[in-house]
Formats: sequence, C-alpha cells, structure tokens
Amino acid sequence: MRTSQYLLSTLKEDPKEAAVESHRLMLRAGLIRQVASGIYDWLPTGMRVLSKAIAIVREEMDKTGALEIAMPIVQPASLWEESGRYTKYGPELCRFLDRKENEFALGPTHEEIVTDIARREIKSIKQLPLCLYQIQNKFRDEIRPRFGVMRGREFLMKDAYSFHINLESLGETYKAMYDAYSRVFTRMGLEFRPVEADNGSIGGTNSHEFQALAEAGEDIIAWSDSSDYAANIEMAEALAPAVQREAPQDNMSKQPTPGCHTVDEAADALRIKSEKVLKSLIVRGERKENGKYELIMLCLCGNQELNETKASKISGLTSPIEFAEDEEIKNFTGSHPGSLGPVGFKGRIIVDRTADKMANFACGANEDGFHLINVNWDRDVPQYEVADLRNVEDGDPSPDGQGTLHLRHGIEVGQVFMLGDKYSKSMGATVKDETGTDIPMMMGCYGIGVTRAIAAVIEQHHDDRGIIWPESLAPFKVAIVAIKPSSNEIVRNTAEQLYNDLTAAGVEVLYDDRDERPGVMFADMELIGIPHIITIGEKSLKEGNIEYKLRSTGVKETIKLSEAKKIIFEKIK
Ligand code: ATP
Ligand code: MG
Repeated sequence: MRTSQYLLSTLKEDPKEAAVESHRLMLRAGLIRQVASGIYDWLPTGMRVLSKAIAIVREEMDKTGALEIAMPIVQPASLWEESGRYTKYGPELCRFLDRKENEFALGPTHEEIVTDIARREIKSIKQLPLCLYQIQNKFRDEIRPRFGVMRGREFLMKDAYSFHINLESLGETYKAMYDAYSRVFTRMGLEFRPVEADNGSIGGTNSHEFQALAEAGEDIIAWSDSSDYAANIEMAEALAPAVQREAPQDNMSKQPTPGCHTVDEAADALRIKSEKVLKSLIVRGERKENGKYELIMLCLCGNQELNETKASKISGLTSPIEFAEDEEIKNFTGSHPGSLGPVGFKGRIIVDRTADKMANFACGANEDGFHLINVNWDRDVPQYEVADLRNVEDGDPSPDGQGTLHLRHGIEVGQVFMLGDKYSKSMGATVKDETGTDIPMMMGCYGIGVTRAIAAVIEQHHDDRGIIWPESLAPFKVAIVAIKPSSNEIVRNTAEQLYNDLTAAGVEVLYDDRDERPGVMFADMELIGIPHIITIGEKSLKEGNIEYKLRSTGVKETIKLSEAKKIIFEKIK
C-alpha cells in the first residue's frame, strides 16, 4: 500500500475527548472515529487490525470444532418473552417497533435466537454436543459509554453457544473454550488472567472472565500470591477475621454529631478511627401488598466497601441491589441516611463478617445529628444475621486458604459461562434421552469482545510515540520511508523496487511515498505502530546501505541493500 493512495487519517494533536491511552492512540493513529456516543467507524488502518483479530478468533474457534453461523441483529421480542428476559433485561436492551407495530430488540447477546435454532434443528442426541458461533456487532445501550471502543454501545463480539446431553459434556466443551480463549489472547500478545466471575444477567452456574491486566481496566481482580486463585472482586470471598470479638466495655451512650453525614465526618467528630464506626445502609427487599418495600439494613465496618454483587445473592434481597430512597428511610427509621444504625432498627439486619467482629463501636442513632458510642452486638443489637458483604482488600487472606490477596485492574476481554438448562428449559429446547423422555439440553455460552480486546492490546503495548503492535495484529508488517524521492531518482527507484519485491512476496508493506519531511513520515509510521521500519535515503544508498529500525526497541541497524530482502524476511518471521 502506498500512502499516496491510502487513507492515513493520523492526527497531529491529542484528541480532547480521550481519557485513556488506547482511545487517544486509536484516534490519533487513524484507526477509529466516533459517529455518536459509543458508536464508531473503523477506518482502513483500524479495519486491517480488526480483520487480523477476527481471523485469530475464527481460527481458534474452528480448531475446537465450533461451527460458524450468522444470526440476525434484529431480534423479535417474542423470543425474549419466552426466556423471560424481555422485561428483566434493563434499558441496555434497545427496543423498537416495526411499521406493523411488532416489537423488536437489537441483539445485545444471542441466547434466545440460538436456543430457537437448537430446538428447531437438533432432533437427536446423536447431534450432540454441538457448538455454534458468530462474529458480529452487538448493541447495548450502555449507561456510560466511554474509553472509545473499550465500552461502546455498538461493538464486535464473538459469541459461541454449545448444546449438550449432560453436564459432563458441557464441562468438556467449557474446558475446550477456556483453552481456546487462552490461545486467542496469547496470540494477540495480551498479558491476561482467567478469573472466577459472576454470571450476571446471562444466568447459569459456573463462569470465568479473561481479564487483560491494565491500569485503565474498569474491573478489579483479586489474586493470591501463593496459589492459582484469581477472581473478579465481585466474586472474591472475604473470610471472617480469625480473631475473637472483644468484650463489651462501657454502657452505650448518645453523642451529638451535628452535620455529620458520612463515616469519616462522624469519626472526626467523635475523635475515633473510621474503622470504629459502623456503616449502615438500607436496601429494599420484597415489595409488600401496600406497595411499600421491606427495608433491610446492611452493616459494614466504616472503612470497607459494600460488594453489591455478593449482597444481591442473599435471599430476600434484590438483584441488582436497590437502595432505599431518603423519604422511605426517614419514614421507617425517623432519621435520614447519615445517622442510621442497627440499635432499635425494626427490620432485618445483615452484618458483614468483619463488622461482626467489631466491639465498642459507634453507629448512627437513627436520630438526625446523633450517634451512639460503645455499641456492642448481642448486648445492644440482639437480632442480626452475619454474611459476606464487603469487597476484599489488598492483604486479605486468600479464600482458598493459601497466601494473601492482591488487587489489580483488568479489562474484561472475554467470558465463558455454564448456563445449564436456563434457556433450553424456558424455551423448550429438548432432546429425547435413552428412555425416550424429553430432557432440556445443557448449554454453555462464550463471548469475546473483539473490538475491546484491540483497545486492551494498545493499553499494554504503546510508548510515548504511539502504538507498538504485536506482529499478529499489526496493520502492516513493514514501513518503507523514502527520503525526498521526487528529487532523487535512485532513492525513488530503490524504494519502488523493494516495495514491489516485498509486496510480491506477500509481505504487507506501507510505502510512505508522500515526499513529506522525514520527521513527519517517521512520526506517522511510529504512531501507527508498524513493527519494522525501513528508511531509504541518498546518503546511505551511496554506500549501498539502507536503515532498518525495530519499532518495539527503537534499535537501528544499517543493512546492505543487496541483502535487504533476506534480512527483512528473517526479521518478520
Ligand atoms: P461488562 O461487564 O464489561 O459490561 P459484560 O460482562 O456485560 O461486560 P458479556 O455479556 O460477558 O459482557 O459480553 C462478552 C464480551 O463482550 C465481554 O467479555 C467484553 O469483552 C465484551 N463487551 C461487553 N460489553 C461491551 C461494550 N459495551 N463494549 C465493548 N465490548 C463489550
Ligand atoms: Mg462479561
């Protein structure tokens, strides 16, 4: 490809809207452009990278025996009603009417469509196991689209779905997919960790996410320094501290804390540490006949964070967790949030395992502007339950009993799920077993965020000059920069010849024939991140040489023109 015939679209200035490096570099290197919030064009250079990522994913899927299909982006609401997700899936599901007023949705994922295929096409257990996949745009009306294609609204996903006669067979395919994902992300040059994950709105039992390690990641993963344990913080269990709770000391008493609304403000006013203050939150339980919600108090140590995913799994709580509104709280407790506490609370109280070990602590008095001190469980709060409610912290013991947990940010680039019979049962996707009984098929589903993975690669592979592509994803393998070709025929002819020879040999070359200032051309080639850069200029040509530079290390070499092709082939292997 010649730059004179190409749409380079590089930007000299940093785009203001980019908050993370990958977004900044994807815009600057001319990979993508925003069309609307969370919706992007992929320009030629971006498309070349995307095609390579797609090819890697397709190859690894095909190796597992999965079969490629294409399902529609536009999905009838009736199928979503069958699975029960039409009402449950929140506003991320983009719903619309056709001209005949039939309801449709844009596919955020395809469990319903593929289960419909399975119930039509799979007639006998002899056809099982079967795994179907597609690589296709998804639409999710994300509440906060950001970081470019990392969290877009329209994005490219590889989604695969498997069907089985029993759990054992599902387990085998789950393992095969897990291994294929590891190969995909390794080939993309990502440093990643598979971690235990929550199933979220997809449902099912077992799940792992593949997390690319990067500061820009929106997820936090907890990993043990002495075992294989790694989990999304949403899932990571916080063990009960292995200590005895201290005995109660003085009697409980009430203290004025005017204007204190947060744990830290109360701690300051009472001259104690925030870990001696109890944090009390009120969430909604079931809706009662009078239209009001049951209100449930969750209690945590003042310096720790509620884990909403773990809390949402406690029976009687909602999923996702719904916090009570100020008015509801005031009517029920007599105080506003900020002065809440378990003493005298007339509802269910759930105490975190670490908070359960607190003694002689402070908490809100359920009276605006007052806190209680020297409060003790059992003595002052007779009725309560204990559960794992908090986020794990760096330094917590690993829940598998081996080592200490550490936290890192991750970008979720893929997730695999064991769905069981959630969709096959509700949608009647059954096969006859040996006894002739209809049984729902067991299902798995497996997603890769292809466009997000490209952003993750850039987060891990860049420097202050631009992107540093791994060979497997590079839009071009070799850049040829010709210095002043218009005024020097030998330079021009040499560059043309090398370009033609390499191209004829199947090497993807970007030949910068723009006749720009050398600095401008180098800056662009480095920004785009082409791994091997060749410079052809008058001075070195006179000695029969050309310059070679490896983008990743910046190391330059002078090579003999007569050996150029041979050496370049060795470098790009
Ligand atoms: P997240 O928690 O980041 O919202 P998710 O768990 O809802 O993602 P899945 O349903 O597991 O996403 O989708 C499979 C893959 O699709 C994810 O692992 C991720 O790589 C990618 N993906 C999901 N949402 C987006 C998005 N808004 N933009 C880009 N990629 C996405
Ligand atoms: Mg996910």
